[in-house]
Amino acid sequence: MKAPLWEGEAGHRCRRPEHAGILREAPGPSAGSFQGEPGSELTWILDPTNGNLFVEGLTDNEAVMLVTDLLPPARSIDCARPLTTAALPRPGRVDGQSLQVARIYHGSAVEGPGRRSVLQVQGCPIQCQGCSVSWTHDPSGGVTLNVDQIVEELLNPVGEPRDGITILGGEPMAQPLGLVALLRALKNRGLHVVVYSGYTLEALIRRPAVHEALLLTDLLVDGPFVASLADGAGEWRGSRNQRIISNPGQFLQENAWRCL
Ligand code: SF4
Repeated sequence: MKAPLWEGEAGHRCRRPEHAGILREAPGPSAGSFQGEPGSELTWILDPTNGNLFVEGLTDNEAVMLVTDLLPPARSIDCARPLTTAALPRPGRVDGQSLQVARIYHGSAVEGPGRRSVLQVQGCPIQCQGCSVSWTHDPSGGVTLNVDQIVEELLNPVGEPRDGITILGGEPMAQPLGLVALLRALKNRGLHVVVYSGYTLEALIRRPAVHEALLLTDLLVDGPFVASLADGAGEWRGSRNQRIISNPGQFLQENAWRCL
């Protein structure tokens, strides 16, 4: 879903400047909804819970030169490639809605506003060139988990403090029934939810099966990863074509007729 990051023992650094600046809200899916102008902005995000420092907007070498006197050795990461992942619960008997799951992790500061617990689903039919998580493409990989199990793990106290939940992939919208069940459970608990999709919002609106998912999503990051547009993509995004869309359900309600 996303492009490479770089992370230090005491922090993270993104190879891309697109994570520069956090917690800005996009107005909607028009041209004005694009966030994070390409540029040379440098952003430092300090996680007060564990002391991790995310530094975004430098090349690896620049970052090493800047921080080696101050910080412990750093490590390269990708977005959707966290320092640690939670052990997945053992798949139980599947009753009710389920999702094919690649992994779950906590404490992400780069996949939506604040500090988030993240579900990465398994299976993606989009196959973007340069995808950094190609191991999530096979829909038969990962493990099948009940939505209840997923909610329990996402709300594990090890992920606290938590500002919200992010669902990425793989392709979450490729599993609409399980996704909707999960979103209902999360929204019933009053959680803020970010969903990444490799489909554009306009394409999703043409699929009635995902309409409820859009209505239950607080923030949608839409569109495929385009490697040639990766530089300067701005916070939370993998490439500049992707948009950060607040309340996509509102756009659905206002514009569905245009997209049918
Ligand atoms: S949508 Fe594209 S970037 Fe995201 S997982 Fe699928 S192939 Fe990879």
